[in-house]
Amino acid sequence: MKRLALLGSTGSVGTQTLAVVAEHPERYRVCALAAGRNVELLAEQVRRFRPERVSLADAAGAAELARRLARSGARLPEIGIGSEGLLGVATHEVDLVVAGLVGAAGLRPTLAAIGRGRDIALASKEVMVMAGALVLRELRAHGARLLPVDSEHSALFQCLAGQRREDVARLQLTCSGGPFRSWDAERIERATVKEALNHPNWEMGAKISVDSASLMNKGLEVIEARWLFDLPPERIDVVIHPQSIVHSLVEFVDGSVLAQLGLPDMRVPIAVALAWPERLPLRAPRLDLARQGQLDFEPPDRKRFPCLDLAYQALAADEAAPAVLNAANEVAVAAFLGGAIGFPWIARCNAAALRAHAARGPAQALRDLDDVLAADRWARDCAREWLASEVGAVLPEVLPS
Ligand code: MG
Repeated sequence: MKRLALLGSTGSVGTQTLAVVAEHPERYRVCALAAGRNVELLAEQVRRFRPERVSLADAAGAAELARRLARSGARLPEIGIGSEGLLGVATHEVDLVVAGLVGAAGLRPTLAAIGRGRDIALASKEVMVMAGALVLRELRAHGARLLPVDSEHSALFQCLAGQRREDVARLQLTCSGGPFRSWDAERIERATVKEALNHPNWEMGAKISVDSASLMNKGLEVIEARWLFDLPPERIDVVIHPQSIVHSLVEFVDGSVLAQLGLPDMRVPIAVALAWPERLPLRAPRLDLARQGQLDFEPPDRKRFPCLDLAYQALAADEAAPAVLNAANEVAVAAFLGGAIGFPWIARCNAAALRAHAARGPAQALRDLDDVLAADRWARDCAREWLASEVGAVLPEVLPS
């Protein structure tokens, strides 16, 4: 019986992880759940999976959870709050921690779990984007493993299994192109929040849906792949593939290419990470290539979607630049979702933050978590000030956790 902890249990990855686990109650025991403010759903999850420990964002939520559980007669788990509660769940005694928090919030608890030697099923791409080099060092020091849950990286992970790293010529991340793939620049300029959230193939949270529309998501995934698989950025490519059937490819030195295919369904990469190196039978629709008929591929348009190149720029700059890019992007996306700025200002804000970072002087290395958080904080302020001065946007502070 594998013991699990879930960070972000009421989010998209969290709920789908629990759906996979619910199909295999004989193999997994859900021991700890961390949620934010969705008390109603967490209460339901506690009644169903009976974890030993949970955490919520604040005391009001914790009190409400206790009330709801008492009313239904369910046994009370240990209830933690805030960042302490989150760390309690992350370091609970388990075999695998599923890190499914959105944004920078996943960094500290994931590092804490690695520090305890826990294996991590990693869905929070910001962990590798912000602190890739640091995370790799920590994994080696504590003998923990990372199992990617991001569908593209899961595909690469599966294609790379049993291969020698020196035989890899190139990784190719596939990208649906998002809802604006066929839009011209003028129409993208006027895109609404609703249009940006309308992803063609995947059901996802708001932040990642906007990132998919701007291709920032793919840029962040390039950074993630650079650290997950320890390959230089010039050996990582992106190809647009609107059907999202080929989830990514690996080209080897002999020209042979391996790809991983399947219908777009996050439960598959989640199941791969939960069971690796075994496979879990899943009740899900199967890929029928003959019915699918056609698979299309095209190069990404780097002019209409400048966020992709910003990721390569950040990787070329210094160790702190990807964290700067990620933080600026979180501020800009929050501003866009809140109606304070138009869609193209996301890319402009991100580019401005990278320029300002470069202008700060010599290259910055990430020695520890404090360095990462300092870069993150600096970039948040930088992005807010820049948006205020350029667009007149008045923005609430967007905190990393
Ligand atoms: Mg992905």
